[in-house]
Amino acid sequence: MPYDKINQPVTGKKITFENSKIQVPSNPIIPFIEGDGIGPDIWKATKYVIDAAVEKAYASEKKIEWMEIYAGEKANELYGEYLPDETINAIRDHIVAIKGPLTTPIGGGFRSLNVTLRRVMDLYACIRPVKYYKGVPSPVKNPEKMNIVIFRENTEDVYSGIEWQEGSDEAAAIIKFVKEKFGKEIRSDSGIGLKPISVFGTKRLVRKAIEYAIAKGRKTLTLVHKGNIMKYTEGAFRDWGYELAAEEFGNETLTEKALWDDHDGNLPDGKILVNDRIADSMFQQILTRTEDYEVAAMPNLNGDYLSDACAAQVGGLGMAPGANIGDEIGLFEATHGTAPKYANKNMVNPGSLILSGVLMLNYLKWTEAGEMIESALEKTILQKRVTYDLERQMEGAVKLGTFEFAEALTDNL
Ligand code: NAP
Repeated sequence: MPYDKINQPVTGKKITFENSKIQVPSNPIIPFIEGDGIGPDIWKATKYVIDAAVEKAYASEKKIEWMEIYAGEKANELYGEYLPDETINAIRDHIVAIKGPLTTPIGGGFRSLNVTLRRVMDLYACIRPVKYYKGVPSPVKNPEKMNIVIFRENTEDVYSGIEWQEGSDEAAAIIKFVKEKFGKEIRSDSGIGLKPISVFGTKRLVRKAIEYAIAKGRKTLTLVHKGNIMKYTEGAFRDWGYELAAEEFGNETLTEKALWDDHDGNLPDGKILVNDRIADSMFQQILTRTEDYEVAAMPNLNGDYLSDACAAQVGGLGMAPGANIGDEIGLFEATHGTAPKYANKNMVNPGSLILSGVLMLNYLKWTEAGEMIESALEKTILQKRVTYDLERQMEGAVKLGTFEFAEALTDNL
């Protein structure tokens, strides 16, 4: 498909999906969004590392043909809008894309570009693996116990954007309706937000999480909810999660009750334990019984909070990758923001975007290149050659710029 402002590479082929399976040519065209703020710095470093790892792993047999697409400030300069249709079409056409962070323009009427991208392409699972890389400074005693993959629902919950300002006609109408129809009082000076959580949205997320646990040989899937308070949204998420596990994965999964009633607390080989935790308790558990949790599925807001808290335990957002996945499309992104005060200073840690690139390589099934990057990253940190954020917490470390860190990592491939 011809584009207006996007330059398509002359060589390279599109990734396709056939019979529910991704088909990756040896020279796939992959669109990237550089991002705002620190985006250009971390993207340059990430591209350098990914290209070097692919070359090292596959010599001239495989190569990514990068194609720049636009969102955020750069898009606004080029198209006069922050998220052009062409960008969304290019991601849809090419199935896999990677992006740096984007600023949410301040001012009435703007929704986060990140949230919009996920919603318009129905990228319903936000997948955030959180694990420890040796040598990274951490605030806890045993950060290596953390190895969890969080599946955060990406399209529903209080993030659905259905909300009305205090004092608006809409808020007043809802308050009146709720009083007249259901006899429930809401203070007249309230803002109103809706929190929809559906059977469909819950089950497709939990299905993806269980499929992942099966594919990766992980032993537990935890449903994280606040169902003791929000019975028909968060509580229902838990119930529908268990229902899905029983309906579609009855042979592969087992509940906590069955584990104790029938197996004396010993998980039989080949089975996945499906349990649930109330969100507040989960924040304690992830600190005190970190190793008990391997895969977790949760509504949007719980996932937002818990993934950052887990990332903090293993050294912070600079090292936490993310993927937004739908039924076919995968959009890989750094989990931190645009950190504007560090823009164009070649200072920040590119680890989050580089590790998101590893998730992308795994999605392409180019796992050899991904594994190489992960071990080289760990080696570089153990050599104490790191960016400012880690250097300030490590004794005797050498402070590198963003690109110099990428070069040091590449030397270790
Ligand atoms: P932020 O950009 O994540 O930055 C907050 C702080 O986190 C930075 O000042 C820095 O801490 C640290 N940090 C972030 N990225 C780092 C990196 N790569 N290496 C080292 N340290 C890093 O959060 P924010 O300031 O709240 O948000 C700024 C903008 O980003 C907002 O417009 C927001 O909407 C947007 N945002 C975008 C995304 C996304 O695109 N997915 C996500 C979140 C926020 P120190 O100052 O302590 O060094």
